[in-house]
Amino acid sequence: MNHGSSESKRINRREFMSGVAIGSTLLATASLPCVLYGAEEQATSRPYAALRSLPPGAIQPQGWVRAHLESQAKLTAALPEISYPFNVPYWEGAEDAKSWFQWEQRAYWIDGATRLSLLLDEPAIMTKARAAIDYTLSHPSPSGYLGPQYLEYVGGAAGANRWPNNILFRSFMALADAQPAPNGINSGVIAGALQKHFLNDKAPYSNGGRNITNIEPLLWCYERTGDRKLLALAEKWWTDYIDAATEAEVGAEKQGARRHPYSDMAPSRIFSNTPATAHGVSYAEQTKQPAILYLYTGKQEYLKYAVAAQQRIFNFHMLIDGIPSSSEGLAGTTALDEHETCDISDYTWSWSYLLMATGDGSWGDHIERACFNAHPGSTRDDWKGIQYYSSPNQFIATLNSDHWKPRPGDRRLAYQPTPAQYIGCCGGNKHRCFPNYVLNMWMKSSGNGLAATLYGPSKVSTKVGPQNQDVEIVESTNYPFDEEIQFEIRSSRPAEFPLSLRIPGWCDNPRIRVNGSSAGVSPPRKGFVVLRRTFKSGDVVTLNLPMNVSTSNWPNNGVAIERGPLVYALAIQPTWSSLVEAAYSSAEFPTWEARPTGDWNYGVALDAARAADQVQVKKASVAANLATNSWPWSSSPVSLSVPVRKIVGWELQTNPGNPAQKFTPPLPDPTQYKISDTAERLSLVPYGAAKLRLSIFPKLKS
Ligand SMILES: [Zn+2]
Repeated sequence: MNHGSSESKRINRREFMSGVAIGSTLLATASLPCVLYGAEEQATSRPYAALRSLPPGAIQPQGWVRAHLESQAKLTAALPEISYPFNVPYWEGAEDAKSWFQWEQRAYWIDGATRLSLLLDEPAIMTKARAAIDYTLSHPSPSGYLGPQYLEYVGGAAGANRWPNNILFRSFMALADAQPAPNGINSGVIAGALQKHFLNDKAPYSNGGRNITNIEPLLWCYERTGDRKLLALAEKWWTDYIDAATEAEVGAEKQGARRHPYSDMAPSRIFSNTPATAHGVSYAEQTKQPAILYLYTGKQEYLKYAVAAQQRIFNFHMLIDGIPSSSEGLAGTTALDEHETCDISDYTWSWSYLLMATGDGSWGDHIERACFNAHPGSTRDDWKGIQYYSSPNQFIATLNSDHWKPRPGDRRLAYQPTPAQYIGCCGGNKHRCFPNYVLNMWMKSSGNGLAATLYGPSKVSTKVGPQNQDVEIVESTNYPFDEEIQFEIRSSRPAEFPLSLRIPGWCDNPRIRVNGSSAGVSPPRKGFVVLRRTFKSGDVVTLNLPMNVSTSNWPNNGVAIERGPLVYALAIQPTWSSLVEAAYSSAEFPTWEARPTGDWNYGVALDAARAADQVQVKKASVAANLATNSWPWSSSPVSLSVPVRKIVGWELQTNPGNPAQKFTPPLPDPTQYKISDTAERLSLVPYGAAKLRLSIFPKLKS
């Protein structure tokens, strides 16, 4: 990567902007190295992508995926009616913000609501989201700046925070890319508005905060306008950002500390393979920018940075549910380490860019793991409350039971429509998570092929093959609650194209049949197998992904159990109680607290090599029909039976000053407790079915 620290090679912002103005006429017509397959694909072609996402409208959710989104839609629609800051017209003229949080969170909601509406055709929700989008687009400042005056750069140190603007611009991108174009939407007009905004903006983009994340909409704008000034601007922002991070890192090392908010983004740190000391959301959002730069430049140095940055997350911070500990900084991996719900939306969003850039299916594995475990594990089954923090073990989730050591007793574990109240976190961001999952279920691959990148019931319509033919594929499955996935191809005439199917890393022996006969395919490459053939309408491809039980070890003598993409947990029976908190919850969407009623003080004696024998897989005799089930985690036809013993005396922790206040305890040292002589078997369910749960078990001697 060009980290060019040589001052002589760098130009200051004024010189750069001056050059931009002079060169604009010539540069505006420069062509891009895109390979375009037609108007539809043009929307998201990203010239160096190994996999290219499809425009909103190409993928339709079906089965449980649709039911799940429809259930979300009730909360998405209600949030602006019931809860601050979503009930204030930020991005619609309001200028009375006390800080930037309100703009950030309402922008998250607008983006999620826009994408959800595009998937479900929900005009009422779209109308609410469009009110903010249309207002902002139609009220630029004289310089072309898009956003509240409050945040516009006016010189000096104040203002100029562009993180909230970036989030809102994602909704512009979704709306402008959608096919067919929504009413009144002209993608060229939106791209032109962003072009003017970025080229005239005087805000600092490389100063270490999240302003750098605007590379994402900037490069989207570059592709649609062909204006190479925007690409040059993106690369300069990143070079300056890395230079600043490196300087900060040198300073931090001198002080013997690495707590600077962005010093951990210095390449020396990114490639160090050591734990990161950074804010979880910021790390996800900032370190993905070079993956996006790669999509538009093909420069390997960018991609290496982005991959190495994520590798640190997997090596040092990943929790069993697929999301790194982030409270709110990246932390450890014990049973009590927590993550923000925002991080589920943000890491999966970032990993979708890594999937596009690398074409490596393992990024799909990561997205599925997070969306099938962490996402439902922090959400009530009826979508009426979400957590701010959640953790692998949580035995109690009330307004004063957060076990996070820096602020014990906080309200972040309770299930609420807006769990962080004043700052709105993670109430808006939650609405982006599953719509983005669906929008990335299918992608275009090389040779004008189609790749099934994330699995679930869906229908995709696009153009494929050398003749750019219309084709529709209906994906029927109860995955991840079943091992079998069927793809039916529909087209008006035979269509020749490569169909890529992701083979998850946990699956050793996938089986593929075409029209009932075993298909001879090469072993997976970069996590995909490719079927190259001429498909006839009505052809059915069946993918079977056998799921095996496996165990993993965790700090403090912990062990976890999973099968395929699902983590399994003991669901502790909760007693729910609710209350209405004015301006934050309502009678229909109240604040929920969960207290345990069942036992949870169990340990397991498992031998990793014999786990498949010791853990019994129980399948319902008649497979549950999950087709219309909005919360299939709680109706899973598969449960696991595990051998356990009670750990006598392992109890909730109590605040000595307030005996009524309880906390989830850490894993016990089994040698300090009496272990019951009675062996029992427990039934474990998918993590997403357990709002109170034990998923990291104390390991007993077998
Ligand atoms: Zn949050």
